[in-house]
Amino acid sequence: MSSKSQNISKRSRLVLMCAGCGRVKFPGDKWKRVKPVPVSSARIDVSHGICPVCFASHYPEL
Ligand SMILES: [Zn+2]
Repeated sequence: MSSKSQNISKRSRLVLMCAGCGRVKFPGDKWKRVKPVPVSSARIDVSHGICPVCFASHYPEL
């Protein structure tokens, strides 16, 4: 229950969404498809990134 070091505000959640396939990153490096992205309904900030799958497909030699 000790959360002294956690200074992150829980009012808004930052969601990382893959710009390639639309998967959303969950804790534990898990990317899942979320059908209706609740962007407007809740205080969620969407940041676009790229998931490992799309990264590998875009840069197969890396
Ligand atoms: Zn992707």
